[in-house]
Amino acid sequence: MATTLIEPATGELLTTVKQATAEEVSRAVAAAQRAFEGEWRKVNTRDRGRLLSRLAHLIRENADELAQLESRNVGKPIRDSRDEVGLAANVFEYYAGATNKVGGQTIPGAASGVLMSFREAVGPCAIIVPWNFPIAITSWKSAPALAMGNTVVLKPAEQTPLTAIRLAELALEAGIPEGVFNVVTGSGSVVGEAIIRHPSIRKIAFTGSTEVGMNVMRLAAGDIKRVSLELGGKSPNLIFADCDFDRAVDSAASSALGNAGQDCCARSRIFVEQSIYDRFAKALVEKFGSIKMGDPLDEATEMGPLITEAHRERVMKYVDAGRSEGATLACGGSSPGGRGSYLTPTVFLDAKADMTIVREEIFGPVVTVMPFRDETDAVMMANDSMYGLSGSIWTRDIGRAMRVARAVQTGNISINSGSSVHLEAPFGGVKRSGLGRELGLQALDHYTEWKTVYIDVG
Ligand code: NDP
Repeated sequence: MATTLIEPATGELLTTVKQATAEEVSRAVAAAQRAFEGEWRKVNTRDRGRLLSRLAHLIRENADELAQLESRNVGKPIRDSRDEVGLAANVFEYYAGATNKVGGQTIPGAASGVLMSFREAVGPCAIIVPWNFPIAITSWKSAPALAMGNTVVLKPAEQTPLTAIRLAELALEAGIPEGVFNVVTGSGSVVGEAIIRHPSIRKIAFTGSTEVGMNVMRLAAGDIKRVSLELGGKSPNLIFADCDFDRAVDSAASSALGNAGQDCCARSRIFVEQSIYDRFAKALVEKFGSIKMGDPLDEATEMGPLITEAHRERVMKYVDAGRSEGATLACGGSSPGGRGSYLTPTVFLDAKADMTIVREEIFGPVVTVMPFRDETDAVMMANDSMYGLSGSIWTRDIGRAMRVARAVQTGNISINSGSSVHLEAPFGGVKRSGLGRELGLQALDHYTEWKTVYIDVG
């Protein structure tokens, strides 16, 4: 059986990719187990770091090809794909440096003994990746796993496996032994579940929807496997009247429309202080109208199509729900016609807290803009969500910025910036946005077990 990949920008056939069978999943996990107990374990930490650095180098050498693959497969603008490939190289390089720096401790304990701890690899790790940031998210999970001496069985999203397959080839070219970095293609419900259920898998790192994340957690419970989850979001963007207005408008657009809004960190709920609400809403609608939508391979393109026609239809249902529940469609909400699954950037005004478009993750280029009275009101509105992944605060008052940053229930928040991911810092969500942190040195906790050893010297 094979999966047909359709190019989102054209609606035409891109290629076909094999769907793994249950037998092939077992072979991949067995290879990961063999490599974990055998060749990979024999590689000393300094050499392990060198291999990961070499992989980072090969990613950079092949950046143009990887970026083209990502743009054609996902439909994202080529400039963004290039940045994400660059990020993947940086992530492998960062964790390459950790292989011989993260270890155990000697612990002051009983006088008659020596108490020490080791940080040991966990075993073969299942890595499940969504379609919105394939190579970036693959690197966030694989690099720390490999750095700590684990092996990997990676399942990319069925629709976007191309950079993962190429990465597996580059890993071999870098000298990483066979069986250490395995890629298995196919659907989540068949291949993903088979990997997760396999008894040799000791850790599951999942990024995707909250609903599937809950299922992953349930499946992991059977064998008490470790789980980390990066899930959905509905992040707030809090705009105070004293902000740098033009920058706040530009960022409100880019942090909601990046990757056509198919971003777990998208600031899709925009809250604006009452006194500047009308002016801000008008400027935002103008900004959304000026976004250059088009061919992902064109350097000037700012926004590409949605991943599939089916996903565009799903997003359109939210647009319909917004209208029927009484919000005002200020711009967008339509297909521009022609080839590809494009949807125009969409702003809803007059939204209410209980509307579907305010509560649910739309995962498309759709925002709501709502007014708030004061700081307390802003924090309350921001926290009125089952998610807590990212967010932004726009103000020139540093005291208020810090108060609000501490009060918003979220894993990440930026002040006067639309950024969410810094590879050196922990990234992840609270509430239904996830469990555990990726990136930074904190990610290494997922991929190591502490072992305590006591020697009696009395
Ligand atoms: P899904 O949850 O549908 O899929 C994510 C991955 O899980 C895919 O590889 C999918 O495979 C696989 N999968 C699906 N069902 C199962 C299953 N039963 N067992 C094991 N694996 C399974 O999410 P989307 O692909 O739709 O991605 C979008 C979601 O990801 C959004 O909610 C978004 O917010 C979230 N996300 C979160 C991020 C974060 O860091 N917090 C970052 C990026 C996205 P397949 O698709 O091949 O069936």
